[in-house]
Amino acid sequence: MKNILVTGGAGYIGSHICVALLNADYKVLVLDNLSNSKVAVLERVKEITGRSLQFVKVDLLDTQKTAAVFEENSIDAVIHLAGLKAVGESNKLPLHYYRNNVVGTLNLCERMAKHNIKNIVFSSSATVYGEQQVLPIKESAATSPTNPYGRTKLIIENMLRDIYNADPDWNISILRYFNPVGAHKSGKIGENPRGIPNNLMPYIAQVAAGRIERLCIYGNDYPTADGTGVRDYIHVLDLVAGHIKALQKLVERPGIMNHNLGTGAGYSVLEIIAAFEAITGKKIPCEIVGRREGDVAIVYADCSLAKRELAWSVDNGMREMCEDVWRWQMQNPTGY
Ligand code: NAD
Ligand code: UDP
Repeated sequence: MKNILVTGGAGYIGSHICVALLNADYKVLVLDNLSNSKVAVLERVKEITGRSLQFVKVDLLDTQKTAAVFEENSIDAVIHLAGLKAVGESNKLPLHYYRNNVVGTLNLCERMAKHNIKNIVFSSSATVYGEQQVLPIKESAATSPTNPYGRTKLIIENMLRDIYNADPDWNISILRYFNPVGAHKSGKIGENPRGIPNNLMPYIAQVAAGRIERLCIYGNDYPTADGTGVRDYIHVLDLVAGHIKALQKLVERPGIMNHNLGTGAGYSVLEIIAAFEAITGKKIPCEIVGRREGDVAIVYADCSLAKRELAWSVDNGMREMCEDVWRWQMQNPTGY
């Protein structure tokens, strides 16, 4: 399994996956419509690795162009990251999210089936769990997403399970990411949100850099130690390592599998701010505001299954997450 199609490969996580794949001697073909990314990132990937990759600007909703990609290239497996991911936007534009994420994946899987390519690693999300009473969250927990984005992920997961049930020749790895943060150690690639960031870590980085005046903390009345929301932040490089392990596992132990990728540790918003301030020496001005709609109090993963079955482990802690975000932010104050 050497030729990997990476859908969404120009995005935040996809670009880091490309680096890891190239460094591990895979051949990489990136498919991306650049709706939330810039092609410049792929030059950075080449700079970091000293290797080349192929890129096609294709939208998965365009069935003809997607078909051509499969006709014109040799593909052994797909890492499928292409999708829209903003929870708030998905509440406002549900049809757009269902079409892009669900129909895009349907088109992709139809093409894969037609060409007898049956190996896929899929980017799912901890959002599929919604609010959970029992922590840490295991893969066996009931799913109950609280927003359209999360529901698109769950629909896709179920679609993949149905595909497998109908044809067990498929090899499917569903990876449920917790909160990916951080950047490549070179500072050349990282998260490059368009406009004002939605997520905590890139927001804090832009406040520290003086690009945004202050951070709004969404609620300090949650049932947590300091009242702010608790999440399981995972360094993007550790997340990526999980993908390479999952890809290898598809060969060793074919079938369908589902793993949480987090660290198993929960950090509150105030703890993240304190960690970032300690690393950067910058004060983060902040203000407590009301809760954000759809937010839950505490989310953190039980990652023992991934550790055991994928022989995967996490190398980076909160210090590295903050250091690497800051290096990326300082080296690229306005992104790519
Ligand atoms: P991203 O937006 O940086 O990357 C996604 C890429 O997919 C972008 O480059 C975008 O242009 C592309 N894309 C979107 N729709 C497309 C389409 N129809 N056809 C072709 N390309 C398309 O996001 P990311 O943070 O790198 O996330 C990657 C995947 O991981 C997504 O599926 C996301 O839902 C999932 N995920 C992300 C997080 C997170 O916090 N970043 C958490 C859990 C899951
Ligand atoms: N958060 C915040 N201010 C922000 C962005 C996020 O207080 O500007 C909080 C949010 O309420 C949650 C945590 O930070 O408790 C992580 O939010 P993020 O959007 O990064 O991830 P997700 O909600 O997807 O877990």
